[in-house]
Amino acid sequence: MPLIDIIAGARPNFMKIAPIIRALEARMAVGVALRYRLIHTGQHYDACMSGDFFSQLGIPAPHLNLEVGSGTPAEQTGAIMVGYERALLTERSDLCIVVGDVTSTMACAIAAQKLRVPVAHVEGGIRSGDWSMPEEINRMVTDAITDYFFTTSESANVNLRNAGVPEDRIFFVGNTMIDTLLHSLARLRPPAFWNEFKLSERCFFVLTLHRPANVDSADRLVAMLIAIAEGTRGFPVVFPVHPRTRNKLESVHLPAVTSALRFVEPQGYLEFNYLLKNAKAVITDSGGVTEEATVLGVPCLTLRDTTERPETVELGTNELIGTNPAALRPALERLFAGGWKKGRIPPLWDGGTSRRIVAHIERLLASGMRDHAPGEGIRQSAESSGGWPSAAVHSNPR
Ligand code: UDP
Repeated sequence: MPLIDIIAGARPNFMKIAPIIRALEARMAVGVALRYRLIHTGQHYDACMSGDFFSQLGIPAPHLNLEVGSGTPAEQTGAIMVGYERALLTERSDLCIVVGDVTSTMACAIAAQKLRVPVAHVEGGIRSGDWSMPEEINRMVTDAITDYFFTTSESANVNLRNAGVPEDRIFFVGNTMIDTLLHSLARLRPPAFWNEFKLSERCFFVLTLHRPANVDSADRLVAMLIAIAEGTRGFPVVFPVHPRTRNKLESVHLPAVTSALRFVEPQGYLEFNYLLKNAKAVITDSGGVTEEATVLGVPCLTLRDTTERPETVELGTNELIGTNPAALRPALERLFAGGWKKGRIPPLWDGGTSRRIVAHIERLLASGMRDHAPGEGIRQSAESSGGWPSAAVHSNPR
């Protein structure tokens, strides 16, 4: 019976694997001969960044936890590769599914491919074109050795085609993160501080910040928080603080103007998306949050210069504001003036993505995956096209 490995390591992975596991289990329940092994690398390990998501999203306990813990990117990459290679040598799987763009995604793709276990990348093909983002390196390395690409957008398909990936390895299926959002809508719930902070529908902002470009310099971070506090006109700004950002904030002095910010722990998925759904707008540098805001129809101000998710800007409610704090005020003025775009939902972000992925996997397994000698066509045409292009959307300098 074929064995499929599903890899998860960090917060943004959990909402992407939950519906795939549900779809696999639904097929197994009707007698389809499949097995899966859920492997948690332990890249994120504390309850608020990992454990709580398993219970809230109904993800079963991992079959294996590599428990790599914290470390430099290279230390984590090495430890994950060693741990996953050991798992594959103990029992080889027939397919390794990696999701998203975290260190675990890249490390497990490498370990699998070295042992000639086919790799499927869910959310393959997206590119920001910004090599200062660790995630962009993870995406490029992973996609260079991926056999089967499950894509979220036409721009991802175009990136892959331009890099010479044969059409029969690209499966435009939609967005598993949105499967989870739509599946969870009825269960979203207010966080414990909802009344304490006197929050009400459309009368507060949500803020998330964790990209190195925004949080690794204390001066930049403080300047951005001041701009946010000043530009949001006294509305409460709920700020679930990512561990990386918290480390930086511990060493800074915040001026009194930032008292509109409500610093809270990273929220559970159900609480965070309740906040997002009811917010006046979200200010963020997260990738996943721009997708959720688009589907929830909530204005989204992204504090980045590029995005690997151009559909959230071209179709959705997202706008790239850039990383200069001065650019935030005019954008917020437009928001307060009621001029924010309404947005549309991108194609195939419909809640059925994981079912489509599992249907493709069943067909691929039945047809004998390795028969096509994956990889060769990709390398040849990528060389002739000069490598990986970028379809990043850039912000308007304002
Ligand atoms: N999220 C959450 N609690 C929070 C902040 C974010 O559950 O306090 C969820 C959010 O809804 C989205 C995911 O975490 O599903 C995004 O993860 P993150 O911003 O860490 O990663 P990125 O998408 O930028 O890679």
